[in-house]
Amino acid sequence: MHELSVCRALLDRALAVAATHEAASIGRLVVRIGPLSGVEPGLLREAFAIARTGTAAARAELVVQRSAVRVRCERCGAESECPPNRLICSHCGDASTQLTGGDELLLVSVELLAPAGDEAIAR
Ligand SMILES: [Zn+2]
Repeated sequence: MHELSVCRALLDRALAVAATHEAASIGRLVVRIGPLSGVEPGLLREAFAIARTGTAAARAELVVQRSAVRVRCERCGAESECPPNRLICSHCGDASTQLTGGDELLLVSVELLAPAGDEAIAR
């Protein structure tokens, strides 16, 4: 499953962040996925449940944000959102566009949890 390797890469980065800040565990991972990234959110969730096992993110929640496909028009210069299968300028209808968003796969944020003792105090 392609999503599993994607998930492991995201987790590795999140775990590195957790280690840098000496966090006990990860509470939440927020990722942003574009429609053209080639990653299916449903499969990513399934892969995450597998990949997180035995790590500091074993009980972490995965939050998936979907981003829109965006193009910049080479003819009129406008930037607009468009469907993934129709990369045309929504202002002038020209097909000479450059993709400016929608193919991303980003780790947006990592929520870190303090060691169990501190966590209990915070509740
Ligand atoms: Zn245009």
